Amino acid sequence: MPVQTKNPAVPKTVESPINPWEVALKQLEIVAKHMKLDPGIQSYLSYPKRCLIVSVPVRMDDGSIKIFEGYRVQHNLARGPAKGGIRYHPGVTLDEVKALAFWMTLKCAVLGLPYGGAKGGVRVDPKKLSLAELERMTRRYTSEISIIIGPGKDIPAPDVYTNSQTMAWMMDTYSMGIGHSAPGVVTGKPLEIGGSLGRNEATGRGCVYTIENAFRKLHWNLKGTTAVIQGFGNAGSVCAKLLADLGVQVIAVSDSKGGVHSPQGLDVPKLILLKNKGGSVTDYSGSGVTRLTNQEILELKCDILVPAALENQITGANAARIQARLIAEAANGPTTPEADEILYKKEVFLLPDILANAGGVTVSYFEWVQDNLAYFWKEEEINQRLEDLMSAAFENVYLLAQEEKVDMRMAAQILAVRKIAQALKMRGIYP
Ligand code: NAD
Repeated sequence: MPVQTKNPAVPKTVESPINPWEVALKQLEIVAKHMKLDPGIQSYLSYPKRCLIVSVPVRMDDGSIKIFEGYRVQHNLARGPAKGGIRYHPGVTLDEVKALAFWMTLKCAVLGLPYGGAKGGVRVDPKKLSLAELERMTRRYTSEISIIIGPGKDIPAPDVYTNSQTMAWMMDTYSMGIGHSAPGVVTGKPLEIGGSLGRNEATGRGCVYTIENAFRKLHWNLKGTTAVIQGFGNAGSVCAKLLADLGVQVIAVSDSKGGVHSPQGLDVPKLILLKNKGGSVTDYSGSGVTRLTNQEILELKCDILVPAALENQITGANAARIQARLIAEAANGPTTPEADEILYKKEVFLLPDILANAGGVTVSYFEWVQDNLAYFWKEEEINQRLEDLMSAAFENVYLLAQEEKVDMRMAAQILAVRKIAQALKMRGIYP
């Protein structure tokens, strides 16, 4: 049997040369300067509270042993227990997880959820594992991080290439360790074991509520506009479906294999069917449909651009060529600070990740509350509560952007950092 002595290298195809943690620190530096933030608070937020690196040994189906590297980072817990998703992707690095945890701290503060920020991930290509291998890997990873997670401590959820099945395995593994069922240890679970109605669609739905709020505020009409969506997973596909339901023409979408474009609009239910059957959006065919790359679709002329895949997609290199009027960041960290500046000058209205994709963590919060109460709400109630919280957050960020004459990202970050700084100051420094 060959001996694995090194962690598998991060493949070049998925690794972006831009380090997401450096992007997060740059964002913090910009917002700290603008709000003349106490340098002590800035340094507090520049260091994650806890970074756990674990090795995850897995017995593969052929009998061999593979080691995967996993992470769980708790960025800041001043406002409550840690909350954030788990990512399985070959490009996962500690710095990526640190950045994603930082954005979770800010996101929970923008929405006023009583949580701090966390994130986890395993550097693995889950498409290369059998279902049984994936289950063994998930269970061992959960066991390795169970020393810091828990319903009142740190509550994981799905992210890229993890789903409700992953959460069910995590919940079961954690529960076995403590000897009783603990549904509140993860969110995004199947309904049968304490999941919430509306959680699966929450990120896309919340993103669409934010787009609707922006259109109303800007006195633009949504009906008849066009949208381009990069990434057609949980966040992107729901966003596409709900936008199409509102009369928006979805003219291009993409997944990891590439993109498809039709100026006449794509049939979104047909695309969803293709994905559900295990295919790619690039299998979509029809008259006037052309294939484009993931980068090319970003530069198409459209009204709404929704990056819903990975970080660092809109950078200093392509921001000037973006033709959308509005960008709604369903993905975390898709835009670099250099691109932000270019887009602001071009008057592109940008709905930042920590606002636009907060629907997921908001309904995760509802799921956790329902688990803790052992009492479950109706779907209409959940969607209404989601809309109320998303709209209130949008309004707060928009007003602050007007007051401070800054873009929506800066406004959302000011709002978040203010709340976190207040919590840190009130709690003081132990001992
Ligand atoms: P997912 O696993 O359901 O889907 C990911 C999608 O991205 C797939 O369509 C995949 O093919 C595509 N993709 C992968 N690599 C790509 C590449 N290089 N270029 C273009 N597309 C690529 O994941 P998801 O949950 O939809 O997450 C997508 C984004 O949304 C991530 O940034 C995630 O952090 C963010 N997000 C997700 C949630 C949630 O609740 N799931 C909440 C907030 C934010």
